[in-house]
Amino acid sequence: MNTIRDHLESVREQIAAAESAAGRPAGSVRLLAVSKTFPAEDVAEAFACGQTCFGENRVQELASKVPVLPAEIEWHLIGSLQSNKAAKAASLASWIHSVDSEKLVRKISAAADALGRTVNILFEVNSGEENKTGFRSADALRASLEAGLALPGIRVRGLMTMAPLGSDEPALHRVFAALRTQRDALEREFGIELPELSMGMSGDFREAIAEGATIVRIGTAIFGGRTYPAH
Ligand SMILES: *Cc1c(COP(=O)(O)O)cnc(C)c1O
Repeated sequence: MNTIRDHLESVREQIAAAESAAGRPAGSVRLLAVSKTFPAEDVAEAFACGQTCFGENRVQELASKVPVLPAEIEWHLIGSLQSNKAAKAASLASWIHSVDSEKLVRKISAAADALGRTVNILFEVNSGEENKTGFRSADALRASLEAGLALPGIRVRGLMTMAPLGSDEPALHRVFAALRTQRDALEREFGIELPELSMGMSGDFREAIAEGATIVRIGTAIFGGRTYPAH
């Protein structure tokens, strides 16, 4: 039995069912396979099953996987990023989901521009007291977004969040709907499109899809349980 293949197939089916239940077009949600803590062989196996987007939460682990895996893979950095690692991240990832300060926006922009790359960025919104990452202040987010729109080397694509651990179903819907509402407000305020909402993990991607997720970040349901936490 090929478990990664089976798990991927099952997750794809569940995403399709959630899209359909929400009345959303098939294929409107992108599956990001979160491979943190799993070896490059597992990524290669998922890639062989047609999975092309992978997420890592640490720059160091990303750096160890990128050179040994197919160049066709689109790498997303989803974990909190210190600004002294921004240049390295910008050289490896084509998407960074965890942008949570203006300083970081500027560092990513400068590094990407120097490399002649364009990095897609998402601003992370803090949705729960126990989560350490993400913007807590809507004003700080607005200021960073405004700065990011004017900078080279980056493309501001939307927002990302994580629901607080242990949220019940109504709370999940509230958190994910709030991210969508915040995105809609920013689109109106700046007269721009922010097409991407990165929200939903193994335990809550159905609720996220119901509320408009365009990228779901799924690790455990594809690769299995992690033997150590990777936060
Ligand atoms: C690990 C991680 C995920 C995936 O979580 P699972 O519960 O294993 O699906 C998603 N997003 C972020 C930011 C993560 O660090």
